[in-house]
Amino acid sequence: MAVTRRRPGQDPALIAALRGEAAIRQAVLEALRAYRASLDTEKLAAAIDARDWIAAIDSADMQTLKDGLARAFVPIAAVYKESAANGAASISELLRKAGHIREARRLAYAPRAVTIRKADPDDPYAFEILDDDIAAQLRAYQDQLIVELTQEVRQFVYDTTISGVRAGLDSTAVAATVRDRIGLTSRLAMAVANYRAALERNDTGISLDRQLRDFTADAEVAAAAAPAGTRLSQQRIDQLVEAYAQRALDYRAMTIAQTESVRAANRGLHQSYMQAVTQGVFPHAAVTRYWRLGSNPCPICIAIEALNTDGVAVDADFVSPDGPIDNPPVHPSCYCSVEYITDLDMLR
Ligand SMILES: [Zn+2]
Repeated sequence: MAVTRRRPGQDPALIAALRGEAAIRQAVLEALRAYRASLDTEKLAAAIDARDWIAAIDSADMQTLKDGLARAFVPIAAVYKESAANGAASISELLRKAGHIREARRLAYAPRAVTIRKADPDDPYAFEILDDDIAAQLRAYQDQLIVELTQEVRQFVYDTTISGVRAGLDSTAVAATVRDRIGLTSRLAMAVANYRAALERNDTGISLDRQLRDFTADAEVAAAAAPAGTRLSQQRIDQLVEAYAQRALDYRAMTIAQTESVRAANRGLHQSYMQAVTQGVFPHAAVTRYWRLGSNPCPICIAIEALNTDGVAVDADFVSPDGPIDNPPVHPSCYCSVEYITDLDMLR
């Protein structure tokens, strides 16, 4: 089977996604850091002693995370709008080609707002970036992102607390474990735990083989493990673990930024075509959507492309082994995209 892998740089939606990625990553990182910093370990230990699991979860400030994620949504919405504007520009170009309009309407994208300059009042395509549907879609997207991430971190604090208690650790030790890992995914948290264990065992084979470690401390860690070396102090180990956890937090922010920028770009592009069809600019049957594989396709992405080789209608989902999917991404760091092919003969 021939797999077409398009590079992100070739795709207009992905160009918008890549442009927004760094700002999203920074904002998500700030949100996760603020949440991590808000953890009150004394309050957590007291809650554990009282067996009050709700208070245990609330020992870190969830509102801090919600507010930070709402700020992170500003650059996400900008990617959505830029991608929708790109889609609208290419639709105008198509209409021009089809001879439908004398002068195509233009959409100029600016960082804070999208301004619409109407060249011709009779322009058949009046794409409206500030339309109620788009506002509602963006609000729902923001709510979903915040709910999913906050539920995930709450669940993580709960699970980490309970498993520490079940392992027979005292409340202070459990709170210290949560302190190390809060804000991370289970996988990254496990990496932090392994790193701490290796430092405490003085096992340089493991502690010096971890990608997210503080490389500048390598010589110090190696010297401490030498036969005549002085072992690292507990305080120094705590510092190294915290530096590691901060890098892990940034890694998570990067993954979220990649995924959400691709989601926003594909949704924005889709919306520009949906509006064109809804307004009757195109007949519904003139537009077909095709799944295009990104640079990092998973087996499900590859299956989606193979199952939808004839494309789907503009308002239809793609068939996938996991059920219908409207747009990429399918998995974290999925760079798949959707190509819209318009049959110009149907526009005459
Ligand atoms: Zn993919």
